[in-house]
Amino acid sequence: MVASTASLLWLGTLLPAHAEGPVLPPAAEQAVPMAVGAKLDHGRAGTRLSLDLSSALVAKAYVLEATDRVIIDLPEVNFQLDPGAGRVPAGDTLIRSFRFGLFAPGRSRIVIDLAAPATVARLSCDPIADGDPSRLAVELTKTDRAAFHKAVLAAAPEPPLAAAVAPAGSQSATTGSSTPVIVIDPGHGGVDPGASGLNGVLEKDVVFDFASKLAEKLQASGRYTVVMTRADDTFVSLNNRVKVARDANAALFVSIHADALAGAATVTGATVYTSSDKASDAEAARVAEAENRADSVAGVESAPVVPDVSDILFDLTRRETRTYSHLFQRTLVGYWQKIARLNKNPERAAGFRVLQAPDVPSVLLELGYLSSEKDAKTLTSPEWRDGATASIVNAVDMFFAPRQSTGSIPPAPPQHDGTAPGPGAQARTSAGEGPAMTSRDQPGPAINR
Ligand SMILES: [Zn+2]
Repeated sequence: MVASTASLLWLGTLLPAHAEGPVLPPAAEQAVPMAVGAKLDHGRAGTRLSLDLSSALVAKAYVLEATDRVIIDLPEVNFQLDPGAGRVPAGDTLIRSFRFGLFAPGRSRIVIDLAAPATVARLSCDPIADGDPSRLAVELTKTDRAAFHKAVLAAAPEPPLAAAVAPAGSQSATTGSSTPVIVIDPGHGGVDPGASGLNGVLEKDVVFDFASKLAEKLQASGRYTVVMTRADDTFVSLNNRVKVARDANAALFVSIHADALAGAATVTGATVYTSSDKASDAEAARVAEAENRADSVAGVESAPVVPDVSDILFDLTRRETRTYSHLFQRTLVGYWQKIARLNKNPERAAGFRVLQAPDVPSVLLELGYLSSEKDAKTLTSPEWRDGATASIVNAVDMFFAPRQSTGSIPPAPPQHDGTAPGPGAQARTSAGEGPAMTSRDQPGPAINR
């Protein structure tokens, strides 16, 4: 938690929404500045957030609306802060909460959620003493809705993000890989922590550890080419995650997440989601809504890619892709239940933006609930991670087996009620859309695009 001092009064000169910090001497030779402390002061004039840094930097601030936020863009900063530092106790402050982290290679960001419309009255980075340490201070003053809206309009649009890069060692498959390309997508990252669970565990860390282990196992099998959407604790936009899959000509996209449900500590287990225009149930709609907020959480305003659904070829491709997504969903649930807990309704569907690639079978796996003591403990255990990732590798092997051995009907994957479907049993489509597929249809060729 940040320290909070009441009754502080300061005066600031009102700057435009896009306030540049002071121009400081070039710091090319310096190491990445380290942030070692955060402090929040509030008084009649407004609220001030200050960060103690190992060296000076140049910051830029602007405001965004709906939800109301202040974005502070920085060069790369090594945040050595308590992950809970941004949780601000409710009270007489303009700041509801704030987040910090890597936003893109070489760029960090602080996102401040506002409790009321406010403008950046002052943004400064001044030396604390004679040495290197500096203090970055963001001073906010309350304003009315109309003035805030004007400040939002005055803020320059965010330059497009650079596409995510595949981590070193993983081969991009744009140039005809001989093995199927699987894109593993650890959710969230950098300035977007995702859900936070018990004991301060963050979704972005849990899913990154899991995804890394999974990628390592799939790659080690020699049967697949694996691409990860992020190689470290950085932010990647939802559209860029989809772009990574499409650019890599992926045959499967698996997005890894972990949920948290306020006031429901007893809800546990994994759920596998596919994409559908209509949510399978209210819970699926809630999860999709929460996951779709990831860009906004990081201060990125991005519209979902709206496909031209009047294109009949596009529509056919998407239907076929969704059928394969359902098939992998069912296969994964079948293997997962042998090794780990499932949610009581483990196959669901909703409009997840990260599952929108029309030509890449895609699922989103919620590993469990960080709000459950039982799950939070399990999800951070290396032994559990080992078993759970192994079950995904088995499901992937089963999913691709028909394509690798020509003409034969694949063995039916186990169902999560423990029974294997008989020959010719119909694959269920949890969202009820898309053609039902018989086991005879399963060994499909790679989807044309
Ligand atoms: Zn998530």
